This record gives sequence, C-alpha cells and structure tokens, in this order.
Amino acid sequence: MLKIENLHARIGDKEILKGLSLDVKPGQVHAIMGPNGAGKSTLGNVLAGREGYDVSEGSVQFEDADLLQLAPEERAAAGLFLAFQYPVEIPGVNNTYFLRAALNAQRKARGQEELDSMQFLKLVRQKLAVLHLKDELLHRGVNEGFSGGEKKRNEIFQLAVLEPKLAILDETDSGLDIDALKSVADGVNALRDADRSFLVITHYQRLLDYIKPDFVHVLADGRIVQSGGPELALQLEEHGYDFLKNRVVPEA
Ligand code: ADP
Ligand code: MG
Ligand code: MG
Repeated sequence: MLKIENLHARIGDKEILKGLSLDVKPGQVHAIMGPNGAGKSTLGNVLAGREGYDVSEGSVQFEDADLLQLAPEERAAAGLFLAFQYPVEIPGVNNTYFLRAALNAQRKARGQEELDSMQFLKLVRQKLAVLHLKDELLHRGVNEGFSGGEKKRNEIFQLAVLEPKLAILDETDSGLDIDALKSVADGVNALRDADRSFLVITHYQRLLDYIKPDFVHVLADGRIVQSGGPELALQLEEHGYDFLKNRVVPEA
C-alpha cells in the first residue's frame, strides 16, 4: 500500500526527515508516536504533498504510483487522505455542498460518474448512520463555529465520505475531551477494513486505547528509532520519551 524508503525532507535549509522508512500493508493501522518536533507532522505533510517541503532523497510508493511525482489533488484521487486537509472555516459554504464538490472532483479524476445531489444525500445518510452522527453537521458552514470536537468529528465524516485507501490522522486526539475522543475513535474503527490503512500520528498513548494499532513506531529526530506492537505505546506512556536522550544515533 505505502512504502517509504530512506525519506529525507527539508524545510528551507533545515533537514527535518533524515532517512525515514516505513512499510504499510493494506488493512493495517500504524501509529507514529514521538516527542514534539520529531517530524511527525512533516511526514504527514510531505505525504499529502503540502507546499514548502523539499524531498532531497528517498522514495515513496503508494500502490503502483510514485507518490512524490503526483500533485496533491492527484494524491487525493489516488486514495490518500490527510485529516486537517480541510481545516479551514469557510463561512457561508455549506458543509454538504463542499463535501460533494470534493468527492466529485475525486470521482472525476478517477473517471467515475459524478454523483447528483440525490445520490450524494443518500450516501451521506448512510455514512452518518455508520458513524452515529447527527445530520446537524451537514447544514452548517464548513467548520464554521465548530468546536474542537465537532471539527474532529467532521474530519472523520469527510474521511467516511471520501473513502480513502490510506488515511493519515495527525494529532486527531489533541484537545479532545474523552467523549469526543471516543467518538472519533469509534468513527475510525467503523471505517477500518481489509483494504483501508491508517497512519495515526499521536504524541499521547491515550487515543491508542481506543484505536488499536497493529504497529507502533517511535519517530525521533526525523527517523524511526523503534518499532513494535501496541505494547510499545504502553511502555512509552509509562516511561516517556526520555530513553531517546541516551541513544547514540548513527549518521544517516
Ligand atoms: P512534530 O509534528 O513531531 O511535533 P513537526 O513535523 O511539526 O514535528 O516539526 C519538526 C521540526 O520542523 C521542528 O523542529 C519544527 O520546529 C520544524 N518546523 C516545522 N514546520 C516548520 C516551518 N514551517 N519552518 C521551519 N521549521 C519548521
Ligand atoms: Mg508538534
Ligand atoms: Mg505535529
């Protein structure tokens, strides 16, 4: 699904990712944890094709495509989703209208028929039911006046409608109370399936109590320094990231 090899990326002349490798197979959930400033968000942004990052070395294969050669819209059309991709408030633009435009742009790029408003509404109702969300989200402006929890729920809703093959969630848990956290996790769990993979980026272990990852990786100073199963997240919760300070990092 996703194969990252020796990825080096910089912002200006500062190297942030320093030889990162990761292999995500269909249906797997990988958690990326690590201290602040490790490069977790940079990884998500580079994969989504955000501006401002230069890849100087390495490769990223997404299914059959060379991901780094694709424009951001092409990445989305190929099935990549980065939560926070649409974080902005767009007052006056109806959430439903916006989502339909995003979905139809994606369908068009894939050579699929666009959905008319009846078809889209039907799809939306199904997704709301799966996620146990109220349809109140639909009628408001995009993120307009949404609380933190509502924004996150809306991201999960976008995810459900766009049906990506690989979803990257960056700190989806930050600032959420426990109910909002559980509702986001329930949404993600409802969308897990054998063909869909997730990269769950989080500083804290808390979210992983509710979204059980198959693999946990520790990202520090631009590289993955440790990988393991869910138990690794629990160890980090107990011992923190202090163990990283004593590590001798080999030159990449
Ligand atoms: P994390 O998400 O793990 O906290 P980030 O990927 O946000 O880490 O940041 C990694 C490093 O890149 C940090 O040292 C941060 O200061 C730096 N950085 C992030 N964004 C920028 C930017 N736009 N310009 C310069 N440095 C940046
Ligand atoms: Mg940070
Ligand atoms: Mg971050």
